[in-house]
Amino acid sequence: YLLTRPVLSGRLARWLLQLSEFDIVCTTPKAIRGQAVIDMLALFPEVEESTLSKEVLGELPEVVATVVEEAPWTLYFDGSSTTNGGGAGVVIINPEGKTSALSFKLDFPCTNNVAEYEAFIMGLSTAREMGAERVKVIGDSNLVLSQLQGSFAVKEATLAPYRTAAERLINSFKQVVMEHIPGVTNRYADALATLGSKLSYVQEQPNITVVRRETPVVEAMVQEELLEEDDWRKPLRKEFSGESSIKDLKDYVLIFGELYRRLPGGVLTRCVGMVEARRRLQEVHEATCSLEPVTSLYRRLQRKGYYWPEMRKQAADVQANCPKCSTVPTTEEAFTVSLAEDWRAPYLAFFVEGALPTNSKLAYKLKKTVKRYFMDGATLYRKGFNGEPLRCLE
Ligand SMILES: [Zn+2]
Repeated sequence: YLLTRPVLSGRLARWLLQLSEFDIVCTTPKAIRGQAVIDMLALFPEVEESTLSKEVLGELPEVVATVVEEAPWTLYFDGSSTTNGGGAGVVIINPEGKTSALSFKLDFPCTNNVAEYEAFIMGLSTAREMGAERVKVIGDSNLVLSQLQGSFAVKEATLAPYRTAAERLINSFKQVVMEHIPGVTNRYADALATLGSKLSYVQEQPNITVVRRETPVVEAMVQEELLEEDDWRKPLRKEFSGESSIKDLKDYVLIFGELYRRLPGGVLTRCVGMVEARRRLQEVHEATCSLEPVTSLYRRLQRKGYYWPEMRKQAADVQANCPKCSTVPTTEEAFTVSLAEDWRAPYLAFFVEGALPTNSKLAYKLKKTVKRYFMDGATLYRKGFNGEPLRCLE
């Protein structure tokens, strides 16, 4: 496994060079991210264990270390749910073209979207454990991909922890590129997901690689974040644990140990500490600065699912001081917070990104009706009977 990795440095490279003389296959101890991943790794027959012999530990010049830009891996994911539970399918293709396929039977109540997130997270953590650093992720779930890219906000309490977990996972890669493709071409991963959701186990697992999972992957990924000194979230967390007496908790909710703020309209945003806040502010600004200033930096951060008390002011300050994006439109933003279930979302996606809905029926409906709509600036209008513009509201 290690010998196939293109990025080697320092000590590891020296070991490998020496080991190559001995014709030994060695593996690194794997940093495991929860039981779910352990279960999965058991499925890879090519992973063999061996120990390093003391004799080969010597010194070699640093020159050995070479850094090669790794070609991206490809990951297909798909999830589906039935009344019988859910299924998730993942296909991972390494830069050399070697394919691994995994299928999961999700033995807990879940929706289609939860199953899609399960597939995304299981797939990405497996790719991570296999050594991937750059991944192209391909799926047919418009909702999951749009929520992760920040074009859809999250409203469901069941999905909020999934987005948080997926985001943390994405941050552990050098690069994750997401691509949305219509369901039809995602057939391989789709078939695996269907397989997983249709099976029900009476006793043991049958002799095909379908892993049965009884708990959501986000439960295994819960991690306690260290609070900063004077952390603004401290009093809120204390209140949730019953230690203090702030009464104004109605806007906050604790999901899997993570604090979220509920915005008007039900949008859930994760409460981030000031260190992360500074990073996110910079990151999202850099990523969106050169884009059409249809949406303000503040709204972009909100859609990405972040919240901290000074977010609005700080985002406005950054934009006011930036020569490139200081011209935020003064008109109201039509898609202030874009929700997947907002009826205007498919029209906006079509006009702004040229994207059609995944579902063929919805795509057909959109194509049929889209002529009646147009955009002016950031606002969606419907043509009235006499051609007069009617502003579209949520
Ligand atoms: Zn800017």
